[in-house]
Amino acid sequence: MSNPSNRAAWIHGPTAQCDSTPEGALLPWRLILLGAPGVGKGTQADLLHRRLRACHLSTGDVFRAAGSLPECDQSPAMRQALDSMRRGELVLDSTVWGMVRERKGCLQCGGGFILDGFPRTLAQAKALQELMDHECLKLTAVVNYELPFEEIVARLGGRLTCEKCKAVYHIKQRRPSTEGLCDHCGSKLFQREDDQPNSIKVRLDAYRRSTAPLIEFYEQLGLLLRVPAVGDPEDIFENTFTQLEARRVREVAHKALVAQEDRQ
Ligand code: ADP
Repeated sequence: MSNPSNRAAWIHGPTAQCDSTPEGALLPWRLILLGAPGVGKGTQADLLHRRLRACHLSTGDVFRAAGSLPECDQSPAMRQALDSMRRGELVLDSTVWGMVRERKGCLQCGGGFILDGFPRTLAQAKALQELMDHECLKLTAVVNYELPFEEIVARLGGRLTCEKCKAVYHIKQRRPSTEGLCDHCGSKLFQREDDQPNSIKVRLDAYRRSTAPLIEFYEQLGLLLRVPAVGDPEDIFENTFTQLEARRVREVAHKALVAQEDRQ
């Protein structure tokens, strides 16, 4: 995919260095994507990244990368996390937060970020908010992708993922040009272990119980944007981008007003 950085610091932790760091933006985009598994957050994150240049930071990608390490290189907490993940359950807050806190440099990166899959519980959201307040970082917006339940189940059951670049396809709705191979990098496509029917049910239950309450949390902070996740990914993206731009225009106008009042 077209990440300007290879996200090494995010995927492998702070001892790894990204190939290149995105150029610092005057007003970096700092976004959180919310939505049930299967609404297409990963696809939207990639499209947003291409337009906004902010890095796509997925906690699921970090766990999957850790899962491909030899077992002796996995910490006990990580082995437990991978077990939860295979069953479709949420990983413990303490493990997820430890992992994100270790990577806080990615949140401070001047290129901004698009968080996908984090936060997923209120405890995670509060911990993130505290860290961001402490570091004087402001979220630009939280985008909630909305989709009817039956559609989510159909999407997850037919989802195929590229083993190398993580691009996402669907056996019916978004077929690759060559069966079984990624259009972007030619690598093999596979069905994720947690996209099997039993795990799908557990994941959707976990979403309803733990993640859905975040919608209200961010609504109360005045950060929430709602986007229907139905139809063509490009159209969903344009809807997201239009709403983000409108928010940005209001933010800049507000800053200008405050600066003017300070001068008077
Ligand atoms: P999806 O959104 O399609 O379920 P992800 O790639 O975001 O997939 O996450 C895959 C799995 O990784 C989750 O089902 C969960 O087990 C684990 N995981 C990822 N992020 C978190 C998180 N913030 N909190 C708890 N578990 C997480």
